[in-house]
Amino acid sequence: MDFINLQSQYQKYKAQIDSQIAEVLNTSNYIGGQKVATLEANLADFVGSKHAIACSSGTSAIFLSLLALGIKAGDEVITTPFTFFATAEMIALVGAKPVFVDIDEKTYNIDANKIEQAITKRTKAIMPVSLFGQISDMKQINEIAKKHNLSVIEDAAQSFGATQEGVRSGNLSHVATTSFFPAKPLGCYGDGGAIFTSDDALAKEIRIRLNHGSEQRYIHTHIGINGRLDALQAGILNVKLTHLNEEIAKRAEVAHYYDEHLQNVSVPHILDKNQSVYAQYCIRVKNRERVLKACKERGIPTGIYYPVPLHLQSVFKELGYKKGDFSVSEAVSEDIMALPMSAFITKEEQDLVIKTVNNA
Ligand SMILES: *Cc1c(COP(=O)(O)O)cnc(C)c1O
Repeated sequence: MDFINLQSQYQKYKAQIDSQIAEVLNTSNYIGGQKVATLEANLADFVGSKHAIACSSGTSAIFLSLLALGIKAGDEVITTPFTFFATAEMIALVGAKPVFVDIDEKTYNIDANKIEQAITKRTKAIMPVSLFGQISDMKQINEIAKKHNLSVIEDAAQSFGATQEGVRSGNLSHVATTSFFPAKPLGCYGDGGAIFTSDDALAKEIRIRLNHGSEQRYIHTHIGINGRLDALQAGILNVKLTHLNEEIAKRAEVAHYYDEHLQNVSVPHILDKNQSVYAQYCIRVKNRERVLKACKERGIPTGIYYPVPLHLQSVFKELGYKKGDFSVSEAVSEDIMALPMSAFITKEEQDLVIKTVNNA
């Protein structure tokens, strides 16, 4: 059994994907060009934002957004400790300080009710993460940001395609970033990412920064990086994007089937106004070791997102956090695990997972 059925997905779209790849190889336009321009137009259209800027990964998308917003040493950015490392890593990489706020025990997303007490004179932005495919309460977060004159950056690496009150993830904040890492809801065949915003000036700044701070070749006006997406990945994404709505519907069906049949587990509560894309299907169990072992014995792949919350990572020692600071994140990290999830998992596979987890 696969954790994510990337091979079944490829076999289904093979003719379309292979022809995109062949076209890139036959024209030798490997960097940028029409494939990337088409992808950006398709992404903006899908998300509803004015601008979509393709880039080299979800990590570079976060880095470039922070850079373009001018966030730097001495600044603070509020985020969740229960996320993939890159979120806080990029805040630290631009020299700013990640300030953590615990998660909500129902959704596992940042607890918006606790954000205001973490705001200081140095706070520049709030970076909620749409964890496991579900968007945080953006209305509440945007209101807090507006009141304190802060930017909101949605880390939408896990939520491309998700909606809140019918609005797509990526179009609910000043700027948003996503990842096309193969395991994400919309994945390419390598690394890739994108940034979304409807702020013209910010979009321009991001574009300059992802191309070595240059608008005109060999004329550099800013400090940036090589953050470009290549044409092969863009071609692959253009195909996969046309199938995404269908896959999202299938993922929801798979999740609901798990919801109905798994016993004695708790799962993130999906808010009524949200449609999750279930980037992961995570459960909290009483005896994680036993359940993991039972799955392993039956050839069922599992994962743990995330075993160590970020405030307890050794690299962030100097931030001064300690065990007990974020009790919800800590408790969830101790008993959470992820089950196989994709649009291509079969009923038989799901039944085996359900039986195994329930028995354990
Ligand atoms: C995957 C992920 C990233 C990083 O994306 P990459 O494309 O792997 O660089 C950032 N934040 C979150 C929440 C993620 O899940």
